[in-house]
Amino acid sequence: NAPSSHETDHIFRSKLPDITISNHLPLHAYCFENLSDFSDRPCLISGSTGKTYSFAETHLISRKVAAGLSNLGIKKGDVIMTLLQNCPEFVFSFMGASMIGAVTTTVNPFYTPGEIFKQFSASRAKLIITQSQHVNKLRDSDCHENNQKPEEDFIVITIDDPPENCLHFNVLVEANESEMPTVSIHPDDPVALPFSSGTTGLPKGVILTHKSLITSVAQQVDGEIPNLYLKQDDVVLCVLPLFHIFSLNSVLLCSLRAGSAVLLMQKFEIGSLLELIQKHNVSVAAVVPPLVLALAKNPMVANFDLSSIRVVLSGAAPLGKELEEALRSRVPQAILGQGYGMTEAGPVLSMCLAFSKQPLPTKSGSCGTVVRNAELKVIDPETGSSLGRNQPGEICIRGSQIMKGYLNDAEATANIIDVEGWLHTGDIGYVDDDDEIFIVDRVKEIIKFKGFQVPPAELEALLVNHPSIADAAVVPQKDEVAGEVPVAFVVRSNDLDLNEEAVKDYIAKQVVFYKKLHKVFFVHSIPKSAAGKILRKDLRAKLATATTM
Ligand code: ATP
Ligand code: MG
Repeated sequence: NAPSSHETDHIFRSKLPDITISNHLPLHAYCFENLSDFSDRPCLISGSTGKTYSFAETHLISRKVAAGLSNLGIKKGDVIMTLLQNCPEFVFSFMGASMIGAVTTTVNPFYTPGEIFKQFSASRAKLIITQSQHVNKLRDSDCHENNQKPEEDFIVITIDDPPENCLHFNVLVEANESEMPTVSIHPDDPVALPFSSGTTGLPKGVILTHKSLITSVAQQVDGEIPNLYLKQDDVVLCVLPLFHIFSLNSVLLCSLRAGSAVLLMQKFEIGSLLELIQKHNVSVAAVVPPLVLALAKNPMVANFDLSSIRVVLSGAAPLGKELEEALRSRVPQAILGQGYGMTEAGPVLSMCLAFSKQPLPTKSGSCGTVVRNAELKVIDPETGSSLGRNQPGEICIRGSQIMKGYLNDAEATANIIDVEGWLHTGDIGYVDDDDEIFIVDRVKEIIKFKGFQVPPAELEALLVNHPSIADAAVVPQKDEVAGEVPVAFVVRSNDLDLNEEAVKDYIAKQVVFYKKLHKVFFVHSIPKSAAGKILRKDLRAKLATATTM
């Protein structure tokens, strides 16, 4: 089945059998394939307005938007850009674009004009769908080299009252779906162009095809024994931003395929989140570690009934087992587990098997088991040779779900996908005796103390477990003797007496000597990306200025 691989490779596979995947279809046809089984059931619920769209309505409006985009000149292969918070229009735009063979690049609407413009020009988008409040950023000429102004050269559509020179989303919704052109779509044609989060450097454009996204969704929710078992009466929380691939794939596309309702929340705010969970009986919650932190530690949680939640799926960043256990006390009835994803990997590499239709026991702190129809190996980052169980090394994945490549960067693509088709993740982890994957940290984030390896994620997990610590991040500081030493940024929860020595002692008691903290800086918040990742590069910069003071 696989292309050539070394006979000595230790290859890990799912414990569940492989399945047949309909990845010859276009993505929209696959997602709506079983529509007739649940056409009148709720598909999208807007958290802010309460408005609900059934599956049939969602399908129809998406087709109208497809016809509308085509009327505005969007053709197969063209790129449209969504600059939107979570909303039904995001879904109609993404699915509508797919229907005419167009590609959607999803952008964080809170990016600065410069960041938006970079993604806009790299992706050569022809049309932007946004909210009126973000239109000014498209007009900010500071960020446009050669004075290109998107709203003059490109179409801008707003989902609310359109400012000057913009169109209202109604021009799409009011189109006649029978005018939608028939296009032939090849499985290897691109459909989504998400950008990686930019945790380690500049975000990179990632080309995902119809085949890659279908494969990834199927690996999660298809087959006799789905790995992520979503039911038609599930209400799936969509508070994580749809411009990030975790929410787009594991929440939206998986729910569309499985027939579950998606509760869309524009942004995270703990009070309204708790209210909506209670009001709509959310049963599946996709979260990221900062959200777990809020759910585990915020006292407001105690005032709400969260008993409808049966599954909590955390992903996108390391979640320590201490924090996972703290959350367990808040939602004792729920199965807690993680998925491990990476934009380039389509994105899901592994998923907790306790979420399966035939749940298997799993350990807290694990990121799940490699998905079906895929191969995973762990290699020695130095020699490239594959490692057996319980030996940490770089995780590599192979399968039809991985990206086609980076946008306009053949060299970077060749650096990350090798000639045998293995995608090298840059993450250090190991597979244990029960096939469960544990991520230690990113290759690049590991702090090297005299050659000893210190994973910041491990120290962060211990820190946030302290009752007086609300949040924390660990970064390396240059040191003449040791090379690098770990230092921490800590947010106190309420105990203002918590001092540097106490924090250092607390860690020192729990770790080997080389993992001890050398300094602690108290701060008001930890910088994080919209997808919940600690922006260590910002902290390193802060550290550089702090130490010269
Ligand atoms: P960039 O590549 O632009 O620097 P990024 O790698 O953060 O940013 P994403 O593709 O959004 O961009 O994130 C993928 C990374 O997130 C993985 O490589 C891994 O380091 C981390 N990650 C995802 N899920 C988990 C998880 N469950 N546990 C630990 N780390 C995770
Ligand atoms: Mg990355």
